[in-house]
Amino acid sequence: MSVNAVVPAPGTPFVKRVEGLSGQKVLKCIQCGKCSAGCPAAFAMDFTPRQVMRALQLGLPSDELLGASTIWVCLFCQTCSVRCPMELDIAGVMEALRLVAIEDKHPAAQKNIALFHRLFLWGIARTGRLHEFGLGGMFNVRSRQPFLNVSHLPKMLFSRRLPVLPPWPWSKGAGEVRRIFRRVQAAQKASRGSHA
Ligand code: SF4
Ligand code: SF4
Repeated sequence: MSVNAVVPAPGTPFVKRVEGLSGQKVLKCIQCGKCSAGCPAAFAMDFTPRQVMRALQLGLPSDELLGASTIWVCLFCQTCSVRCPMELDIAGVMEALRLVAIEDKHPAAQKNIALFHRLFLWGIARTGRLHEFGLGGMFNVRSRQPFLNVSHLPKMLFSRRLPVLPPWPWSKGAGEVRRIFRRVQAAQKASRGSHA
């Protein structure tokens, strides 16, 4: 289905849910495309940020967006939100879409991408910093692809772009990050309890 059709049809329950979670009004988007032009991950997305906003404006079926690679490829770098002339927080919209996909257990566009995200957050929660070598190894083991990307290892190790040792769990700021994760988990628990 094309996302460039001209008649907005907002207000479906799905769109209202995304607007509620993100606090953004999708009809404010004027389709200027500045978000997509600055997005460092747009090349890998099946819907660019501008197209995501248009799809929401048009009230496209939720499956189209929840099944898109875009919501998992988004890096939450906030470039789109900073560039938007309408001060829309597009990164927040992406996050809301990902939350809906997780809540609804909607299958992700790419196999194992949710696993990658879980391992990424697990690593950050433990040490406060990303340890790429550990993340890659864990991902290969957990996704049962032991040799995935192994051919890149020698070059990256030789150029010292991939530290083998992890950051110390007690490194600067790690405790603070752990406290943030604990607060988020407590808030999630409370939110689940209030919806039960
Ligand atoms: S930058 Fe803002 S107004 Fe422009 S297309 Fe993106 S979301 Fe819409
Ligand atoms: S937050 Fe996501 S959609 Fe926005 S510019 Fe960054 S990667 Fe692209």
